[in-house]
Amino acid sequence: MQDTTLIVKDSAGWKRQLSRAVRDPLELCRRLALDESLLPGAKGGHALFETCVPEAFLARITPADASDPLLRQVLPLSEETRAVSGFIDDPLEEAEQRPARGLIHKYHGRVLLIASPTCAVNCRYCFRRHFPYADNAPSRAQWLEALDYLRDDDSIREAIFSGGDPLAANDKQLAWLVDELEGIAHIKRLRIHTRLPVVIPDRVDDALLAWLSATRLQTVMVLHINHANEIDAAVVNACARLQKAGVTILNQSVILRGVNDSVAALEALSERLFEARILPYYLHVLDPVAGAAHFDVSDDEARELVDKLRERLPGFLMPRLVREIPGAPSKTPL
Ligand SMILES: *Cc1c(COP(=O)(O)O)cnc(C)c1O
Ligand code: SF4
Repeated sequence: MQDTTLIVKDSAGWKRQLSRAVRDPLELCRRLALDESLLPGAKGGHALFETCVPEAFLARITPADASDPLLRQVLPLSEETRAVSGFIDDPLEEAEQRPARGLIHKYHGRVLLIASPTCAVNCRYCFRRHFPYADNAPSRAQWLEALDYLRDDDSIREAIFSGGDPLAANDKQLAWLVDELEGIAHIKRLRIHTRLPVVIPDRVDDALLAWLSATRLQTVMVLHINHANEIDAAVVNACARLQKAGVTILNQSVILRGVNDSVAALEALSERLFEARILPYYLHVLDPVAGAAHFDVSDDEARELVDKLRERLPGFLMPRLVREIPGAPSKTPL
């Protein structure tokens, strides 16, 4: 149990933890006692997409094991520098989908707001690894424009905070946005797509819980967890605090070679998620982004894994296997 002084210290703590994240591939390799042969590749990958691993996530990685499923998600590898045909910079063609700065409207009834251009961890397989982040941090005036867009379209019932990682933004900024959304009568739900409660569980602090529990909007959080080992006691505790504030928590994963490409790993993930009272939502196949081809699992193999998984889990612990196809009106079930 935490005493009060510790809670006060922690509530200022997530930003400090983020600013102290390991951002040097050499330090990452040293800290985890990895073989030196990995270093040149790590530097090559890092030059394309910078390394970022907060301590709280690093602590869940087994040292001296290059095949650790959490390490593989964050350690740059030489494979990233290899061009593979079909793997491109903007596989989702999102550059074309922006009616206003910071806003992506692709699906009926819900709109994605890029609430923060940065993340708390840089996932090597991320489809946004070539995303022009710097161009997409809207100013206050641009937010007002995006909000006008939402106000003018009463088919929009749900606002989705995305990024980057929206919870990398300040609570003051987020609370302002939520307040503005609450003023739009047809908006019923707020969804937050975030990895922060997983990589820095102290992000779920009093300031976050204050605006989350105060809003009239129904709130859904979609976490991003790919392996059971990501869920330690601190993550379970962070989720319990969110749930107590009325937040429904779901999880989406990406099927990744060498991370969770087995029935056993996917089964353990669903079981562990439910222990934290999180329900599996989507299992995405990899978007074909340049630099991530070594994570690819074919659609056929993914389907086969999920068919076997279905024989082992109750229906409510089965994620839906989907692909994102540019121009499609929803995620496409496989
Ligand atoms: C994935 C996504 C959504 C949410 O889709 P759901 O099927 O409702 O989870 C909304 N907008 C965009 C642009 C998306 O990529
Ligand atoms: S947290 Fe999400 S958006 Fe950020 S790098 Fe990881 S997968 Fe990409």
